[in-house]
Amino acid sequence: MINPEQRDQLRSWFQKNMRIAPWRVSQPGKRDPYATWVAETMLQQTTFSVVIPFFENWMRRFPGIKELAASSESLVLQHWAGLGYYSRAKNLHKAAQSRVQSGQISLPASQEELQKIKGIGTYTSGAIRALAFNKPAYIVDGNIARVLSRFHLIESNYQKETKSSGTYKALSLAWLSGSNPGVLAEALIELGATLCKKKQPLCSQCPIAEHCKAYQQGKTAKYPATLQRPPSIKISGALFLIRKGQTILLCQGSSRFLPHQWGYPLAIHAPYDHFSYGIKKDLFKNAGSLERELSKKNLTALGKIHHRITKWDMELNVYVLNVSILFKGKNLLDQQGDLANQINWKWAFVEDLNKNLIGNLWRKATKLIFKEGNDSNEN
Ligand code: SF4
Repeated sequence: MINPEQRDQLRSWFQKNMRIAPWRVSQPGKRDPYATWVAETMLQQTTFSVVIPFFENWMRRFPGIKELAASSESLVLQHWAGLGYYSRAKNLHKAAQSRVQSGQISLPASQEELQKIKGIGTYTSGAIRALAFNKPAYIVDGNIARVLSRFHLIESNYQKETKSSGTYKALSLAWLSGSNPGVLAEALIELGATLCKKKQPLCSQCPIAEHCKAYQQGKTAKYPATLQRPPSIKISGALFLIRKGQTILLCQGSSRFLPHQWGYPLAIHAPYDHFSYGIKKDLFKNAGSLERELSKKNLTALGKIHHRITKWDMELNVYVLNVSILFKGKNLLDQQGDLANQINWKWAFVEDLNKNLIGNLWRKATKLIFKEGNDSNEN
């Protein structure tokens, strides 16, 4: 099915054409397992060039599992800020703490053992096994699946496979079963990322084009089969800048969308037919009525921001509240009976906002709020 000549072509193409990156300073197969874990986790859902400065910064601050485990979650998230999908950083952090607690600082070479570590799935376990331990592994992500689907004319979708078995896993393991599995793994990843592109693959430059069935049969556009994405769901709401002197009110847990992040008070409009259980966690149970209520009390509209989190397509009105009214006597926070019990809140200095607000949603809001002409300093 895969002959040594094809593996040789792939290996030698990669060694001449590989992109430079800080996680590639040593040969694939001889990499540091921890650095490989970090790099491959960052590279999920984030492009190669974007990851480079984040990886360098991370490795400077958390050069090993011990240093990562000893850090606070907020510091870890600060170093992830801008990469999105923050559960990846939290999983890395929790997994590092759990390794240190159990006295297992080094990572195992077994793919099954690697997959028992929080946040490490099929792809990352295969990458660590091949790139750090130079062992054959099954390793499939969108890039590799595209190459395999086209090269072998596989109709199925890799996302429907189980964690450890399926056509794509068997094929990737077969590719990596030649000498130098680490180089072969990275070569497949690189081929998928640079030549075997989703649209208009650069087949004329491909080292294995003469054996690629889709290319030879003129069918590259038909492979791989795409999964129908669920349609996005539009939701709207309001986001509030509540300012007291040089401090801004921040909440944690004001929305089910970003439950662990510190952010501005946020309310999503009712009705919530399809996720009504989430309403109770929102800062203000019905943003519509809150906006009507507050409009009588000097609520200033700054504009709108749009943001997408998975399938949720948000449109948020951004407002500034006049705190001299809100905080006269019994304030709004006191009036929201369950607020204090369900939501953490604090006053943060304006200059500390970037440190506190790590998600792109909050950063978009900050940009709008502090845009020239919008900044307000009401007391
Ligand atoms: S020949 Fe084209 S379609 Fe086939 S593996 Fe190479 S880049 Fe992908």
